[in-house]
Formats: sequence, structure tokens, C-alpha cells
Amino acid sequence: MSAKRRKPIMVIGLGRFGGAVSRTLERMGHEVLAVDIDPALVQEFAGELTKVVEADATDTTTLEQLGAKDFDAAVVGIGTNIEASVLIVLALSDLGLTNIWAKATNEKHARILERTGAAHVVFPEQRMGERVAHLINEKLLDFIAFGDEFAIARLIAPEPLLGLPLVTSQCRKKYDVTVVGVKREGENFIHAVPDTIIFPGDELVVSGRIHDLEAFSAM
Ligand code: ATP
Ligand code: ATP
Ligand code: CA
Repeated sequence: MSAKRRKPIMVIGLGRFGGAVSRTLERMGHEVLAVDIDPALVQEFAGELTKVVEADATDTTTLEQLGAKDFDAAVVGIGTNIEASVLIVLALSDLGLTNIWAKATNEKHARILERTGAAHVVFPEQRMGERVAHLINEKLLDFIAFGDEFAIARLIAPEPLLGLPLVTSQCRKKYDVTVVGVKREGENFIHAVPDTIIFPGDELVVSGRIHDLEAFSAM
């Protein structure tokens, strides 16, 4: 069976962020056309991505010639040069692209990007900083936040749950969190159901509001 290629995606800026996005998308089977103004980076990525072009992406004509409007999505990974980042998002938006993802370095940068046409603005440094704080402070093994309020966490089962089926410990009612899955040492991950019994040392995957998860993990 021939592997079907996933949708082509344009990535502008091959710094640490754009580079990681590009490599991951290629690994997942997407065609990636990457653009960077730095010839050394273009060289570095040339063998790994579908196509790598050395160009100044603030130039609308260049983007047009690269067929930017025919891509399903574009990612703009430029943080230091805010002017370039904004001009590129504007140009992509003018060319008719709607699925634009852009990296911002601060709140004002983010607002400008949203107004110039970025549908998704991300803050990798801040988000990772928050994540690390949660991992250090709480008894969390892993933590993924969705926006400011909701998250999914992996944690060692807190004491009040031990030896009981979930229906008895009433996590959702008492702590307002949902146990999604359970991983027992040496066993496979299972989806949590009401009569799943929690044992000491079990790893739980739990979803809920961030402050509820924090309280839950600290019990
Ligand atoms: P990171 O933290 O992801 O490494 P950064 O936020 O520090 O990146 P920069 O290093 O300024 O951002 O830019 C990321 C990449 O974008 C760099 O490789 C840079 O060469 C490239 N770049 C900057 N301006 C342009 C431009 N006008 N056209 C194309 N590429 C550009
Ligand atoms: P980030 O991407 O998280 O913003 P960065 O990886 O680009 O950071 P820098 O901007 O070089 O790294 O440094 C981050 C902070 O560390 C800056 O506020 C800088 O002033 C400070 N810093 C850098 N070097 C030193 C040092 N030798 N001693 C103390 N502080 C330092
Ligand atoms: Ca940076």
C-alpha cells in the first residue's frame, strides 16, 4: 500500500521553533516547503524537508511565486524580528491563506498577528515555562494546558483514591476532574471506567481545570 502524502505546509523561519515544526511535519508525512533568509540554515535542512528555499519572505512577490496561496497551512516562526513576522503574516493573508500559525514573543506582538490575519498565535517560550513550573511544583509527571483554564495531566494516583473503584472515590464529583486512563507498572494503558480500581503507584491521565488538577495532585 503506498503511503498517502498528507497536506503540504509552508514553514517560514527555520529557527529552533520553525525547525522543530518542519521536521515533525515531515516525519508525519506532510510535504513541507520551508523558507529562510539564512543560507546556512537552508543548507542544513535541504536534505530533510521536501523543499527548502532561501528567500526574504517579507517579499509578497516571492511568496506568490512559491505558490503560497495553494498551501493548506502556513507557519511563521520568526520571533526576534517582529516587523518581518508581521509583514509575512500580512502577505500570506493578502494572498488568501486562512490557516496561518504564527509564533509571538509578547502579548502586543500576538495581538498584531491576530489582526493581520494569523488564525493561531502561539507562545512557545511562555507555555513551556508554565509547563516546567507545573512539573516542578506539583506532583505531575506531565502536563499539557489547553488555553489558560483546561489541562490534561499525568500523575501518580493520589492517596484518597487507592484501593477503590473510581465510582466509589467519586473524583468527578468531589474534585471536578476526570480520570481518563490508568497505567500500572508492567501493564498496558487502559481507559478508565467506573469500576476501575486504583492501586498504589498507578499512573493516571486526568483532565480538568488547571486549579482543580493542581489541588487533586497535591492530595
Ligand atoms: P527560535 O527561537 O525559534 O530559534 P527566534 O524567535 O529567535 O527563533 P529568529 O531567530 O529571529 O527568531 O528567526 C527565526 C528564523 O527566521 C531564522 O532562522 C531567520 O533566519 C528566519 N528569518 C528571519 N527573517 C526572515 C525573513 N524575512 N524571511 C525568511 N526568513 C527569515
Ligand atoms: P528566551 O528565549 O527564554 O527569552 P533565550 O534563550 O533567548 O531566552 P537570552 O535572551 O540570551 O536567552 O537570556 C534569557 C535571560 O537570561 C535574559 O533576561 C538575560 O538577561 C539573562 N542572562 C543571559 N546571560 C546571563 C548571565 N550570564 N547571567 C545572568 N543572566 C543572564
Ligand atoms: Ca528565541
